[in-house]
Amino acid sequence: MEMTPRIGIFGGTFDPIHVGHLVAAVNTRHDLDLDRVVMMVANVPWQKAGERKVSPAEDRFEMVRTAVGDVEGLEASRMEIDRGGPSYTADTVAQYAALHPGAELFVIVGWDVGSELQSWERLDEVRDLASLVIVNRPGTPPPAGLRRQGWRLSQVTVPNLEISSTDLRARAATGRPLDYLVPGPAVRVIRERSLYSVSG
Ligand code: ATP
Ligand code: MG
Repeated sequence: MEMTPRIGIFGGTFDPIHVGHLVAAVNTRHDLDLDRVVMMVANVPWQKAGERKVSPAEDRFEMVRTAVGDVEGLEASRMEIDRGGPSYTADTVAQYAALHPGAELFVIVGWDVGSELQSWERLDEVRDLASLVIVNRPGTPPPAGLRRQGWRLSQVTVPNLEISSTDLRARAATGRPLDYLVPGPAVRVIRERSLYSVSG
């Protein structure tokens, strides 16, 4: 039994999941000595809704679940899907804090998301309950001023992987390969469920 578990929460739309997400997750777990990192699949990614069609949450969860496989210390969570409604990290960290009293919680974000935190709902509640972990992501500048805003902050450095779900959806739609950018089991889910196809 973990006494005071150190839990990383890595939220995303994961539409689809790719190796950029997974490399960030496993390196954060290693560098910060976390017991586990939870890939938290957003139910309704409220900041993306309306901008484009987001794949059904169950399809995105299945891609994440199969991509994670049995990698030690990594897991896929359906907490936000099961909670329903828009997915706010404030609610998720509160739920983890209640489920695991005394646990140390770490919210993991890439540079792009780290620069947009001001738009989050009830940001102060996230800051009270969790530390923030920033992972480098090419194509976007590092976030500034986070310590000044009162965050307990860590930076994890990973190999720069210029991969995005946006580009992968475009690849899939034009028949270009996703292999090695997306883990094989998740590619199979995409094929079986005809996700991202022009016709489908
Ligand atoms: P989209 O293009 O649809 O926004 P995405 O590739 O940005 O997809 P998200 O699900 O939006 O993926 O991102 C989830 C989290 O993963 C965010 O914190 C994001 O910054 C981080 N992330 C995504 N891709 C990378 C990458 N290549 N390297 C480091 N972090 C990444
Ligand atoms: Mg994104």
